[in-house]
Amino acid sequence: MSKINYSKETEKIIDGVRLKGGAPRLLLHSCCAPCSSHCMEYLRQYFDLTIYYYNPNITENREYQYRLSEEKRLIAEYNRQVDEQDFEGMHSGPGARKIQILEAPYDPENWFQAVKGLEKCPEGGERCGVCFEMRLRMAAKAAAEGGFDYFTTTLTISPMKNTALLNEIGMRLSREYGVPWLPSDFKKKDGYKRSIELSRKFDLYRQDYCGCGFSKAESERAKRERAESGGHD
Ligand code: SF4
Repeated sequence: MSKINYSKETEKIIDGVRLKGGAPRLLLHSCCAPCSSHCMEYLRQYFDLTIYYYNPNITENREYQYRLSEEKRLIAEYNRQVDEQDFEGMHSGPGARKIQILEAPYDPENWFQAVKGLEKCPEGGERCGVCFEMRLRMAAKAAAEGGFDYFTTTLTISPMKNTALLNEIGMRLSREYGVPWLPSDFKKKDGYKRSIELSRKFDLYRQDYCGCGFSKAESERAKRERAESGGHD
């Protein structure tokens, strides 16, 4: 298990940003609106944020479009708050900045190709490492091409995801593409709890599986098993 406190690493960088003034441009890879809710609320106070939506792992087109439309709805709400200076019930205030979104092409066929042979891995296994790498590589490339000051991902907010692995991949890609990685563990300091509160506040769609068809099947199997053993969802 990693001994690095990635949440503290984020804070160190933010302290530097505050000392220096200004708002560095951050490309924030986002998997969905609920996971990005706390990350955006927190980071928009310090960074000029652009959401990067690249998730070919969401292998059903309808699900992909729905998650994307929820992401856009949330960004529109956060931007409305800035326009109207209405931060009622929010943890960020008048210093918050508006957020942009950059949509990457939807290419699930490339994702299926990348995870070929890993279809039977359980969630958290080798397939997820390949999936993280694919999404973060595109984010790193887009950050380099767009001249961003940092890139990172909302994925570290999930208690189901390997935070150390995500940060290791991010740091490696940072060296490869020459864009600083913003280390993170967004679930810490009640970040995950806050994402649930914000999801309720804005009535966001919270899916009950990660994204790929394999994780959907795994989630449905677990639900069936719970039902058969007399448990509840
Ligand atoms: S379970 Fe999630 S992270 Fe793992 S491969 Fe599927 S979509 Fe990617």
